[in-house]
Amino acid sequence: MKTTLSRRKLLIGSGGGLLGLVSASAPSLGQSAAKGLLIDRSGAKWGDRPMFLRPYHPPYIVAYYGRREGLESAKWSPLISRVINEPGLRVRIVEAFDDACAGCPKLEADPMGSVWGVGHSCSSAKDPAMVAMVTRTNKRILGELGLFFGDEMKLRDLVPLLRKNVPVLYDGIGGPGPENQEAYEKGLRDLAEKYGI
Ligand code: SF4
Repeated sequence: MKTTLSRRKLLIGSGGGLLGLVSASAPSLGQSAAKGLLIDRSGAKWGDRPMFLRPYHPPYIVAYYGRREGLESAKWSPLISRVINEPGLRVRIVEAFDDACAGCPKLEADPMGSVWGVGHSCSSAKDPAMVAMVTRTNKRILGELGLFFGDEMKLRDLVPLLRKNVPVLYDGIGGPGPENQEAYEKGLRDLAEKYGI
């Protein structure tokens, strides 16, 4: 509980006051979906705040956009809603826990957590092999896209980079596998159509 309160202070103090921790009285969007999560962003007013993503997550955004019809995911639906509703959506490439992690059921408060962000941890962050794999994957896809941590761009500009430089999903970015690949290719096509590119 103490940790939870500390996290609340951290969010407010860091300018994340629009974001709140899950509580029994919190209004929820995908309300059932948000239930049980550490962080509830159901009332978030995003304004022009970019979507924070670690390097390996944009391909997931594309694949879930391809699967958006009927998608009900506490983790991905809020992000896909932003893609649908914000034509000028920008993405910032971050190194720590990101906007996908905020809806992940594996995220947990941990005062000693430090792998991808102070004050949090998750089963992936506690698994050295997973951390190594994610680190390798991030390095690989950053190289393929020609990006660096801290870079920011419109999603409409990221889509052509993915289409050209990362046409096939591999381990760590959602592949390999025909179903995910199919969803990814559909997402790339749908986004290209959305943006007229
Ligand atoms: S498992 Fe951990 S790193 Fe992966 S999305 Fe969930 S909280 Fe984030």
